[in-house]
Amino acid sequence: MKRNSVKELVSGKMKKIVLIIHTIILFLLMSIFGFGQSGDSTIIKMTKTNEDWKMQLTPLQYNILRESGTERPFTGKYESNFEPGKYHCAACGNFLFKSDKKYHSGCGWPSFSDIEAKQNIVLLEDKSIGMLRTEVRCAKCDGHLGHLFKDGPPPTGLRYCINSAALQFISDKETKKEAEK
Ligand SMILES: [Zn+2]
Repeated sequence: MKRNSVKELVSGKMKKIVLIIHTIILFLLMSIFGFGQSGDSTIIKMTKTNEDWKMQLTPLQYNILRESGTERPFTGKYESNFEPGKYHCAACGNFLFKSDKKYHSGCGWPSFSDIEAKQNIVLLEDKSIGMLRTEVRCAKCDGHLGHLFKDGPPPTGLRYCINSAALQFISDKETKKEAEK
């Protein structure tokens, strides 16, 4: 009996040690692969009522972001903006695109060949107009941003076709000015 209880004690300790080693390995793997790192990787979801959004957004922004509308081509304020800076979600400020990934696609909407951080957006199947498209939504506020097509330039071959009204552009000049304040 005594031996058994010693054995149990030892095996209990071993189990604890194994658990600790597992935890350490898990943390090491997480740090190597960049999980759980700070920055924009932790998305805290934002939930607001339709009334709140109506108060905050312009009617056009509300139609696009909350009702999955689309602005008319070549009418958006960022379609031909190529100033250096960052594009954020107009509803919640979530950082989405950098100007160095913006290119002139000629489609009539701001076009980007890549997203800054994949976890900042959500891609969904959209069959709304009788064809299969990939919808791009903001991961933070669930706002509709635009669509993703596979006819973009290399190396990604992607075209994030995003409504101007769903974006808020902050130029590098403005960011610099803010930093100098
Ligand atoms: Zn958002």
